Formats: sequence, C-alpha cells, structure tokens
Amino acid sequence: MIKYIKRSNEGSTSEDVSPTLLDLSLDGIYIENNRGEILECNPSGHEMFGYTKEEMLNLTIRDLVPEEFAKELPEIIPDNMATGDVYVERVNRKKDGEIFPTEINSKYIYIDGKKRLIVFVRDISTRKKMEDELKEMSRRDELTKVYNRRYIMKKLEDEIIRSKLENCPLSIALLDIDNFKKVNDTFGHLFGDEVLIRFSNVIRKNLRKTDYLGRIGGEEFIIIFSNAVLDDGYNILFRVKEKMNSIFWEKEKLSVTFSAGLFEVDHGEEEYSCKNVIKLIDNLMYRAKKCGKNCIITPSDGSLEGS
Ligand code: GH3
Ligand code: MG
Ligand code: MG
Repeated sequence: MIKYIKRSNEGSTSEDVSPTLLDLSLDGIYIENNRGEILECNPSGHEMFGYTKEEMLNLTIRDLVPEEFAKELPEIIPDNMATGDVYVERVNRKKDGEIFPTEINSKYIYIDGKKRLIVFVRDISTRKKMEDELKEMSRRDELTKVYNRRYIMKKLEDEIIRSKLENCPLSIALLDIDNFKKVNDTFGHLFGDEVLIRFSNVIRKNLRKTDYLGRIGGEEFIIIFSNAVLDDGYNILFRVKEKMNSIFWEKEKLSVTFSAGLFEVDHGEEEYSCKNVIKLIDNLMYRAKKCGKNCIITPSDGSLEGS
C-alpha cells in the first residue's frame, strides 16, 4: 500500500490520470518499436527486472528473455504483422540473470502516427509457486507424504507405456504390512499411523531417484522401479526388509514386517495394462502371505496352487 502512496502524483487532475495509472500499475508496461527497442516503461517495468529506467530504455526485448529464447525473436517485426495481440505465459530474465515466469499481454497502437507495441508484463512467480505447491499436495498422501493412489496409478500407466516405447526394463512391487490390524488393536491407531510413516520413510531412503513410491490403501504400498530389472527391485526390497526387521520399536514384543509381490514387466509376451499388472503383483503378494509373511515373492518362486 505504501508503495502506491509514494508513487502517486500529489494534486493529480483528471487530465493527467494516465501517468498516475502507469505509476500505480504493478504490471510492467512498455512501449516498444518494431525492432523490440524499449522506448518507454513505467516504474514497475524496470523495477521488476532490476534495472533503472535509464538502463531499461537502452535495452531491447531480447535482453529481457533467456538467451536461447532471444535467438528465436525476429530482428524486425514486419509492418504487416497482424495486430500484435498476444496473450502468453513465458519466462523472462532479470538483470542479475534470474529467470522468472510472466504473463504477457500486448497490442499494436499508433502513437504520433507511428506503429508501436504496447506490452503489459506481469510477474506470476508467486502464483506459479502456489500452483506448483498445490499440484504437489494433490499428488501426496496426507499421512505418509508418499504419492497417493491416484498419482501412483497414473505414473504406473505412464511407466508401462514408456518402458514399452523405449524398450527399457520396469519392475513393480506391492508391499503390505503384516498383521497391521493387530498393531492397531494392541497399541492404538495413532501408533499405527506412526508405523505407516516410519515404514514409508524406510522405503524412501532405500529407493533410487528414479523410483516412485505410492500408498494405494491402508497399509499397502506400490513401488515403481523405473529402468530396473527384477534383481534390482529385489535387492532394494531386500534391504528394506532387513531394515524393517532390525528396527527397535520400544514396544514390547513388536516387530513390523511386510510381505511383497515383485514383478518385472516383460513386453515380449503380452500387452500389459495398469490393471493386469496390479492383479499380477496382488497375486504374488497374496502368495507371500500364504508363505508365512515377511517375504518377497516373484513369479519364479513357484505356484502355490494346491498348497
Ligand atoms: P495381513 O498380514 O494379512 O496383511 O493382515 P493385516 O492385519 O495387516 O491386514 P488387514 O487388512 O486385516 O488390516 C489392515 C488394517 O489397517 C485395518 C485398518 O484398520 C488399518 N488401517 C487402514 N488404514 C489405516 C491408517 O491410515 N492408519 C492406521 N493406523 N491404520 C489403518
Ligand atoms: Mg492390506
Ligand atoms: Mg496387512
């Protein structure tokens, strides 16, 4: 608020309202010629980029965008080029090199008979940051902060397609905490929540940067091991299993284990979808439970049919 008051012209009359509006605007407002040279700008226009007004009036539009983008801008905008009406989101470059997102709105106008481009530039860094934060929040499970069911399923779908197109390996695991109901019943739901958080943290610490972890239900988690053959996934799961078995829980007679099904998607044999991959790892996980829990089952571990 103070910023506005400082800038306003004392004793403004209705005749000189335009300069006051330019002064007050938080958007950068520029007048450019057809070579992109900046002929005039308001205070926000140079402050936003970290230049003084004098510096700004020696620049062209090419100085205000990242170098790779500057190369693509035409030297001279042809006279017959449309109306100049542009509404885009893009990135700009400040004097100190910082790149920031902006919203641009422009139009050709005639000033003293000369065709000029009038450009409004709005710094949208705060809005973009909030949008990114909201997007990230919408992907996360509230309790454990790993990916939620919706996001991990979408990721699984994408990764199945990517592994086929790029012919790279992909392994998927389904993990389910053993006897979790008993943990809740014995130590309370809040402690159960603690177990879920700690379990996800142990997994997270053992994953590679390219893996994805998601919670798909109460005590069930999926791991997408991108670019990983079955053995890579197995080694990671085995480390998680050892770590879980060695945790001291400060609760009498408590140990928290999990059962897992692990599967490598092999595109050579059949068309895989998210749905049938889930079905397959679910079956493997079920077999792990049948085998006595606290173990990792892969398709080569044999069938339990009849057992
Ligand atoms: P199994 O070894 O066969 O997997 O048995 P289990 O007890 O782990 O599995 P079951 O499906 O019987 O119980 C899962 C329990 O997980 C029941 C439910 O109350 C609990 N649960 C689900 N979501 C949450 C949660 O967010 N927090 C807590 N504390 N418990 C949860
Ligand atoms: Mg379960
Ligand atoms: Mg369970």
